[in-house]
Amino acid sequence: MSALVDTAPLIGHVVGGKVSTPDGSRTQDVRNPATGELSGRVLLADQAEVDAVVAGAVEAAATWAQEPIGKRAGVLFAFRELLVQHTDELAATITAEHGKVIADSLGEVGRGLEVVEYACGIPQLLKGEYTDQAATGVDVFSFREPLGVVAGITPFNFPAMVPLWMAPMAIATGNAFVLKPSERDPSSSLLLARLWKDAGLPDGVFSVLQGDRVAVDGLLTHPDIAAVSFVGSTPIAQHVYATATAHRKRVQALGGAKNHAVVLADADLDLAATHLTGAAFGAAGERCMAISVALVVDEVADALLERLKAAALKVRVAPGNDPASDMGPVITQAAKLRIEEIVTSAVDSGARALVDGRGHTVDGFEGGFYVGPTVLDGVTTDMRAYAEEIFGPVLVVLRVADLSEAIGLVNANPYGNGTALFTSSGDAARTFQRAVHVGMIGINVPIPVPVGWHSFGGWKDSLFGESHIYGPEAVRFYTRNKVVTSRWPSSPATARFHFGRTTSH
Ligand code: NAD
Repeated sequence: MSALVDTAPLIGHVVGGKVSTPDGSRTQDVRNPATGELSGRVLLADQAEVDAVVAGAVEAAATWAQEPIGKRAGVLFAFRELLVQHTDELAATITAEHGKVIADSLGEVGRGLEVVEYACGIPQLLKGEYTDQAATGVDVFSFREPLGVVAGITPFNFPAMVPLWMAPMAIATGNAFVLKPSERDPSSSLLLARLWKDAGLPDGVFSVLQGDRVAVDGLLTHPDIAAVSFVGSTPIAQHVYATATAHRKRVQALGGAKNHAVVLADADLDLAATHLTGAAFGAAGERCMAISVALVVDEVADALLERLKAAALKVRVAPGNDPASDMGPVITQAAKLRIEEIVTSAVDSGARALVDGRGHTVDGFEGGFYVGPTVLDGVTTDMRAYAEEIFGPVLVVLRVADLSEAIGLVNANPYGNGTALFTSSGDAARTFQRAVHVGMIGINVPIPVPVGWHSFGGWKDSLFGESHIYGPEAVRFYTRNKVVTSRWPSSPATARFHFGRTTSH
């Protein structure tokens, strides 16, 4: 046991607007990946805590749903201001537990902020539909009501942005929201809870339940949870989708990815190499939209690889809070060992490590979980490095004859989150964007995460459920429709025993 254990702060739940650290809870260590040192211990909820959090949320949801929509929007505007004011604090919290560089943590908060700003427009977004005189003396109108209590279960790699993909939309539409953050970097959730409270959100509308699979399964099966938004790996997304739908909940479960970038012979190779380097090694490759596969047309493969190698060797690996760092550590020692093992198995099977990040250490931070940028050439589709989501700073390169072969590989892959094409041909771009079975496509844009007023989501094994996340699709996901057909008669009624047509021809 580390000497720091006794002083490491407890990271608790937020129930009814207050931080709660019940005695006797199970805990899990939280480490700073840059140093390997223990930084806290997060509580792991059992069923009693799940029930307590949900009960508080049920009570809060009933009142919140009745608040005038302008008042709800007012809280969102106040939250937006506080998020801007506390961006640096939130970014520092992210970097301390996740490891990504501060500039990237700031970017993460910025992308979350976009969703908050979209949610500020909720009075406009929730306007219903009206048909005057649908039949003689009859009007029809529809409006959308909140679901009640909805849960968000989030991954480690965006501890602020992914909760911000969900909570602002769920809350603006009139629901109470229970966040179950990743147990690996849980502290950002507490800061978000404080900002919601300071923005004037009533206690219990935003709650935090810390925990592992016990907390998740408790939420998935709880009768008072109406809907679940999940973001994480594909096997857990499948589990969440199967369990929660079996318990009659509405579910959107976003899973893992293996994003391919295609580089054609007519691409600007300097631009492609620069963008691929950022997209493969940014956040140490721990992004669901990271580019992890480059499909390069044969005739430019050597020229591109030369540029990729030079760019990868320039990436400065250091703790995320070092302003000169381009890339921080990966999340855990276990993640580091798994990534290195996958690289070794590719090399043993005949791939060539053009740049090899195994065994990387950073002076003064020998306990940190560092993997250097890695570029593997000559990878084949049967290798683990191609078949699995590595979720580390590893770019695998496959050479292809043409666009058609590249599209075939993109579509044969079980994932369908993101993909990118580098070309100077509009015709090739149009062919690609129409042919690929992928939810988000970049044309000379390596990480095509949609802005906050569009919706985000993949296809195939990258999403279970119908609805993409944030943006217009979130308004529908977090509400259900009511249609009222009304008549205010001025003359006596006559009974009718058949449906009448409302149109004639
Ligand atoms: P993860 O699936 O391990 O964990 C996600 C959440 O599920 C966490 O809150 C965790 O506590 C919970 N969980 C883990 N194991 C569980 C179990 N057995 N039963 C019930 N709940 C469980 O994912 P992660 O490692 O935190 O995040 C990385 C993964 O998330 C990658 O696969 C990445 O591609 C994916 N991701 C996807 C998107 C997207 O938008 N599609 C975005 C970010 C991350």
